[in-house]
Amino acid sequence: MITAKKHLFIKLREVPEAGKSYSFSQDDTVLADELKDILKNNPFQADFTIQPMGDEAYHISGSIKAKMNLTCALCAIEFPFEVYEKINEILYIDKKHHSRKEKQGRANHISDYKEGGAFCTELHKDELNVAEFLHELIAVAEPPYPMGKPDCETSCENYQKAVEKGLFKPHDQIDEDSAEKSPFAVLKDLKLNS
Ligand SMILES: [Zn+2]
Repeated sequence: MITAKKHLFIKLREVPEAGKSYSFSQDDTVLADELKDILKNNPFQADFTIQPMGDEAYHISGSIKAKMNLTCALCAIEFPFEVYEKINEILYIDKKHHSRKEKQGRANHISDYKEGGAFCTELHKDELNVAEFLHELIAVAEPPYPMGKPDCETSCENYQKAVEKGLFKPHDQIDEDSAEKSPFAVLKDLKLNS
């Protein structure tokens, strides 16, 4: 591990029983660099508290605010997008799994079910990778079909062309499944795994 990044790996077992708060912003140049692919040079502010729950479980709660530059999926104009995501997750350290899968990153280990309104995430070691964690939250906040103007979907000249090419489905046909298979979702996955 590169020493400069050390503060971005939180040792969960070292978090005091009373919990501990963390703050990260663009002033952290090491972290800003890690998030650059998704946020460019836009500002961000993440504040969260980690609270040990016993039995290798930790509650992480807080929020992240950030700005992104998105490109309208239909007319290709660039527009600013405000990210505000609440953080409410339970992290489990899974002792049974060992190193092999670690490098695939946390993205593959999110389970869909929720417990008490919190997402549950399995970690394979006693460590929260802050850069990965925030990267993923931001990626999830990014809309699959970003639109710069509310009327892009109906009046944008590119819309019909996009539908004809099969790039987009009319809005009422968009469900979670097709959203996940969109070219943007694929791009997002690539970003996460890189
Ligand atoms: Zn547009």
